[in-house]
Formats: sequence, structure tokens, C-alpha cells
Amino acid sequence: MKILPKQAQVVIIGGGVIGCSVAYHLTKLGWPDIVLLERRELTCGTTWHAAGLVGQLRATKNMTLLAQYTSELYATLEEETGQATGFKQNGSISVAPDKERFEELKRGASMAKCFGLEVEVITPKEAVEMHSLLNIDDLEGAVFLPKDGQTNPIDVTQALAKGAKMGGARIFEGIKVSGIQSRKGRVTGVNTDQGDITSEIVVNCAGLWGREVGLMAGVNVPLFAAEHFYIVTDEIGLPSNLPVLRDPNGWIYAKEDAGKMLVGSFEPKSKPRPLHTIPDDFSFGQFPDDWEHFEPSMMNAIHRMPKLEDAGIQTFFNGPESFTPDNRYILGEAQELKKFFVAAGFNSIGIQSAGGAGKALAEWIVNGHPTMDLSDVDIRRFHPFQVNSKYLEERTSEALGLLYAMHWPFHQPETGRGVRKSVLHDRLEKAGACFGEMSGWERVNWFAEAGTKPNYEYSYGRQNWFEFSASEHNAARENVALFDMSSFGKFLLQGPDTEKIMNRICANDVSVPPGKAVYTTWLNERGGIESDLTVTRLREDLFLVITAGASQTRDLAWLHKNISEDARTTVTDVTSGYTVLSLMGPESRNLMSKLTPDDLSNQAFPFGTGREIEIGYAKALALRMTYVGELGWEIYLPAEFAQDIYDKIIDTGADHGLKLAGMHALNSLRLEKAYRHWGHDITDEDSPLEAGLGFAVKFDKKGGFIGRDALLKQKETKVLKRRLVQFALDDPQPLLYHNEPIWCGGKILGDLTSGMYGHTIGTCLGMGYVSSEDGVSKEFLESNSFEIEVAGERYPARPSLTAFYDPKSERVRM
Ligand SMILES: Cc1cc2nc3c(=O)[nH]c(=O)nc-3n(C[C@H](O)[C@H](O)[C@H](O)COP(=O)(O)OP(=O)(O)OC[C@H]3O[C@@H](n4cnc5c(N)ncnc54)[C@H](O)[C@@H]3O)c2cc1C
Repeated sequence: MKILPKQAQVVIIGGGVIGCSVAYHLTKLGWPDIVLLERRELTCGTTWHAAGLVGQLRATKNMTLLAQYTSELYATLEEETGQATGFKQNGSISVAPDKERFEELKRGASMAKCFGLEVEVITPKEAVEMHSLLNIDDLEGAVFLPKDGQTNPIDVTQALAKGAKMGGARIFEGIKVSGIQSRKGRVTGVNTDQGDITSEIVVNCAGLWGREVGLMAGVNVPLFAAEHFYIVTDEIGLPSNLPVLRDPNGWIYAKEDAGKMLVGSFEPKSKPRPLHTIPDDFSFGQFPDDWEHFEPSMMNAIHRMPKLEDAGIQTFFNGPESFTPDNRYILGEAQELKKFFVAAGFNSIGIQSAGGAGKALAEWIVNGHPTMDLSDVDIRRFHPFQVNSKYLEERTSEALGLLYAMHWPFHQPETGRGVRKSVLHDRLEKAGACFGEMSGWERVNWFAEAGTKPNYEYSYGRQNWFEFSASEHNAARENVALFDMSSFGKFLLQGPDTEKIMNRICANDVSVPPGKAVYTTWLNERGGIESDLTVTRLREDLFLVITAGASQTRDLAWLHKNISEDARTTVTDVTSGYTVLSLMGPESRNLMSKLTPDDLSNQAFPFGTGREIEIGYAKALALRMTYVGELGWEIYLPAEFAQDIYDKIIDTGADHGLKLAGMHALNSLRLEKAYRHWGHDITDEDSPLEAGLGFAVKFDKKGGFIGRDALLKQKETKVLKRRLVQFALDDPQPLLYHNEPIWCGGKILGDLTSGMYGHTIGTCLGMGYVSSEDGVSKEFLESNSFEIEVAGERYPARPSLTAFYDPKSERVRM
């Protein structure tokens, strides 16, 4: 029997494919003092029964890069460790039985090109030549990814474990972690059923037990188990090089397995499985069959591969997998406890993600920060309420099916809704609001006009709200529009050290007189953008930070990380206390002047200032800022005053052409103004210089700021080889969303980070980073022709380094 050590540099909890991959990659980075604890046996949780599909194309560039790395790793692991993995690259075919799905696949294929992934759009005939079982009668087309493949999950995990051991890691089976030790907000070790281990770092790779292991440490890990089904037929003589098949409309995937066919399903309504229904000693376990539940998927499989009708079924499998509220896995250092890391909630793609996720997390642990933009999967994207089990159970019933549902633009989840509502919610609903969900908030995306229903009719073309949103957009440009922006994250920082601290965290100068509002980025030491937001100095020692709702947890974590314990400043999250009414448009001053005795003239209340005003019976903070590029104010009201003020604005607004407006109009307006959106256009990988935000960086301010040295180095290079560029399509028909390739001179020089129709410009706009060894200057853009690829077709596009609408921002300062 192995003796459990008393101490290790890193303790990893969980011996599935993920825990073993993290251990493997830590040793590769030269960290041998790793202890991995598994409560039963390696792979005994979810890993052992995975179907073993290893796809590469994900929704974003970095997720695809990580999945690509997984394949590369699995291809070499046997040679390195001597342990077979069963990995083969037999390719995969995804089929489309209708035009919409084919458009989705073609858009995906275009995106794949940006990431250097081999992909072919193929005809049904070509598909059946590769996969002879296919019924192609109803197919529009298909996509073939030659480098996709499959592996044996148990063997691959054992190979990772062996590789980790070869690098010095110690793996203990039959050891259950029962508690997490911590001191002063930092993890210090674990308790187990066979003694305690002290450690600098603990990594939670406990799979579907990850939420409970997180709660031992006071860390929110929002995941929930669901049953996942597949069948394996009798031997039907399939060739071993048969490509993997995905028929998302039929909810099924199928792979060859020793001459048999394995058919798995991502059905629209799944069966969540609360942890208390899974026995404590669950190990290599499975749940009872549920043929009634699986039958519709099987019928779809038979329709697609008629030969299956005659095949006997050898195995019916039903096992657990964990799902997250947004179908993306959970990676990174928990904001609640320093040096406690999480890699869990893999939404049925844990095998294909394990290599990349393990590498990315190991680098994060060793370097103290992520080495690429991981915002898609970063644990800090979640909000504390999302660990709520009722919410998770509901959302999980939908999450499994979303893997194969149409990935419509602007698609909204149907479960776990109505969680966070502005106090104006009911009024907005009465006015025809169609709500979308963001971090639990119900936010208005658009308003249905009289006689129509506020429901999405999804498509890749112009959706049913297109014209409604256009008139909301036009109201903001021509008259005035009212947006409910209550979902903004809002933090108050107070105390004598606040100015000094904020000026170190912000790249812009926030040592300004009270009443001044400053747009700024927060940078990391590498000069990458951790956030962009507005800081308003309310008093000498009181600052208000306003950030995007989705960034609330992350930005709060960044503040706590960068404020030392002995600093004389407090941070209070006041998000829930304030309703935010954003009145934007050339008529906003005239409208507001009827509701306030305060002087709103340009002289008295210029752009970039904030002050308390009287409005209705209330006192409010008014900020003269904008995300739409017009004259306007954001009005911050203690929530209990908001309904009355809203009613007064609506009554008064009738004379000023006021329209209620939603997030889709906001997106269109901001793209015309080239305003960036954190998480899409700017991330911790992008610098403000590349992103065109150098105007908000004050290199010479007293005391410097985080990231200054890295940025100065970049500044010295004079010509930037990578820059965020705006594009406008010549043809107003095609619609852009994100990740469309940017072509120039027969080469892909980048891809779009955002896209939306600009109603004032009258065509689709996008922005994306363009890279060129010659440098990306105005001259470079003017002397080259650019095209944007949409679903395989290329469309000429006009590039610009400045905004297409009001590039001098004169309207903002009216
Ligand atoms: C039917 C099915 C088919 C699938 N097919 C595919 C596929 O084709 N491709 C793909 O990419 N993915 C697939 N998946 C998903 C994939 O299997 C998972 O995402 C992956 O195995 C998750 O790995 P893990 O290491 O996070 O979890 P697990 O394998 O469950 O590992 C977690 C480990 O933690 C241990 N543990 C828990 N609590 C403690 C504790 N307190 N102390 C010590 N140890 C603890 C558990 O015993 C367990 O071994 C499939 C899943 C299912 C259910």
C-alpha cells in the first residue's frame, strides 16, 4: 500500500481524463511534485464510458486551438508513454437535411478556415461515398473534417496518467477528499479519508462531483449531471476507417466500434440527475435503460442509416455527464479562494477537450495567469446564483440538447428564465419587450410592434425583429431612445487610498476632479485588456465603477486581486441597488430638461461628466456617457424610484419621438461607432494599442499603471502588425455575426470578432483583427482589397481604422 504524503506542491482531486491531463501537463512544465487523488479508480466516474469522439471545430478560435492540440497530443501519446490510446483520425461528416442547417455547417466551415482547420463542404453524393450506410435522400449537403477522429477514453486517460507518473507525479486511488483547508482566503491543502495533505495549490477535477467539492471550499462550480445515452449494435462488419457521423437534426452521432456501430444522442429534452440520486460508491456505474426516452433518437438513426434496422443491439448504455448553464466548460482559479483551481463541467466534450484544457490550466497554474484568452470557459464568467441547484437542474434539461440544436444567431435559452429582473420588467413586458437572457438577467433585446408577438423567429437571414430594431436604432440617431441598462455591474470604491489604487489599476488617468467620468481599460502585466469600463469620481474618496453585466464577477475579482489587504479602501458591489435608464439621442436633452430643474447644457454638463440631478421626485446620478454615439445620459436611480421616473419619461417622451429600445439596436449603434465589446473585440490577449484604444492610455501619469511596461515595449515597435479594423460590406444583403474570415490578396488575414447590420450606414458592419508582417496602417488598408467570407461566399468589404458613423464624435459632444 502506498503511503499518502503529508505535503505536495499541487493536489489534484479526481482521476478522470481531465485530472490526469492536468497532472500530465504540470509535469511537462517541470512541476513534478504533484499528487492526484482518486476516490475509487482512475476513469471510474464519467470517463470510462465516453464514446470517445474527438472533434476539433469549436465555436471560437481559442477553443478550436485547444481541441486541435488535443488531437495532436493523442496522436503522439502512445509513442511517448508506451500505452496504447486507440486514437485514429478517420474524419467526421456532419450532414444537413435542410437549408438552415447547411448554412450553419457552411458558416462553421468558413470559420474553420480562420483557424487553419482542414474542412471540406461536400455534396450528399460525396458523403455517401465516404460513409456507405448513409441515406442521402433528404440531404442538402454535408461538411467533412478529415482530421477529426476517435479514441479509447480509458486508454487515453491511462496514457496521460502514465506520462504524468513518468514526469514525477504520484497517483493515489481509493482516496476520497473530504474537505478543503484554507487560511486567509488562500487554499492550504485537503482533508482525505486517510489523512491530510498540505499543498500550495489544489485543483478540482472531480467531474460531476465538482460542484460539491467546490462547495467544500466555498467556491461556486455551477454544474449538474444529466443522463446521456448510447447504444452499440452487434457486429455488422463496418470498416475501421468509417468516418464519425453527426446528424444534428436527428440528434445523433455514430461511430464505428470494432465492426459495430455506436449511436449516441443529444435529445432536446434530457434527464437531469441530482447528485443525491447517484450512490456514494458509484464507480464504473450506469443508470437503468430508458428505451422510451431513446427510441425517437434511434428512429432518427435508422432513418439516416437504414441498415441499423436489421442490426441487433448489444449494449444499451446510460451514464452521467455534467453540464453547465452555458454549455461551456469551467476552467481557472476560483475568485472565492486563491490558488484553488477548477477544471470540470465538460458538457459531453471532455475527451476531446482534455488535452487542451489540461495544458491551458497547467500553464495558468505555473504562470499565475492564463496564457491565452480563455474567457469562453473562465470560471469568473459565472455569477454566484448560478450554483443554485434548482436553476442548474432546469437549465440542464435543455443544455444537453443544445449541443445539436441549431446554433441560431441570437438564440435564447428557454429554461432557467426570469431569474434576475429589473424593477421595470413588467412595464417593459407590457410595452412589447422580447427579453433575452444574460447572466440570469432578463434584458430587452427588441420590442414587438402593435399586432405582433414578442417571440423570436430564428433564421440566418433577417429575423422577424429586424425592422422593429431598425426603428429603435433610428430613434436613437434621430430623436431619442430609452434603454434599460440595469444589468450593468456597479461597484463603489471608498476610502483614502482609493485614488491611488484606482490609478494603478486603470490605464487611463482617473486622478480627476469629482464629477468627471473616465472611460478606461484595466490591463494585465502583459498589456492585455482585462476589462473596459467607466470610472466616475463622485467625491475625493469615492469612485463608481460601471461595467458590463457579464463582467460583474470577473471585474470584482480583478479589483480584489489588485487591492492589498492593508489598503484603506473598501469595494462594495451595488449592482442590485440601482436601476439604470439610458436616454440616448439628439432629443435627450430637451426631453430630460422637462423632468429636471438642473442645467443640462453643454457648458454646465459636458460629455464625460457625472453629477447628481433632481428628476421627478428623485435624486439621481446622471452620467453623460454613451455606447451608441449620440448625445445622452445614463441615469442611475435607487431602484425604488425607478418606476415613477420611467413613467414620467414615457409620458414626456411622446412629444420628443421617444422609443423604447433593446440590446439588438444597441449592438447595431455601437458597431457603427466602432465601440468595442469586451470578450469579443477585446480580451486579455489584445492590447489597447492593437485594439485602437491607445487614446485611453496615459503612459506618463504619476505612479504608472499595471501593464505599462509591456505596452511601452509594444509602442516602441512603431508599426503594429495586428490591429482591430472596421469593415462595411459593399453588398447590404449578407449578415455578419462573428468569426467570418477576412480575406486580402488571396490570404486570410484575420476573422471578425463582432458583426451586425448598421441601420444608419445601411449595410452589415463587422470588426476584427487584421495581421500583416508589413504592419497594418491606413495606407496598407487603403492599398489593398478586402473581402469577408460568409458561408463559403466572399463579399467585398471596405476597411476603416475609424468608425463609419461620426468618426470625429461630434454628435456625442453636442
Ligand atoms: C455516454 C457518454 C458519452 C460521451 N462521449 C464523449 C465523446 O464522444 N467525446 C467527448 O469528448 N466526451 C464524451 N463524453 C464526455 C466525457 O466522458 C466527459 O466530459 C469526461 O469524461 C469528463 O471527465 P472528468 O475527468 O471531468 O470527469 P470524471 O471522469 O467523472 O472524473 C472525475 C473523477 O473525480 C473523482 N472524484 C470525485 N469526487 C472525488 C473526491 N471527493 N475525492 C477524490 N476523487 C473524487 C471521481 O471518482 C471521478 O473518477 C461522454 C460522456 C458520456 C456520459
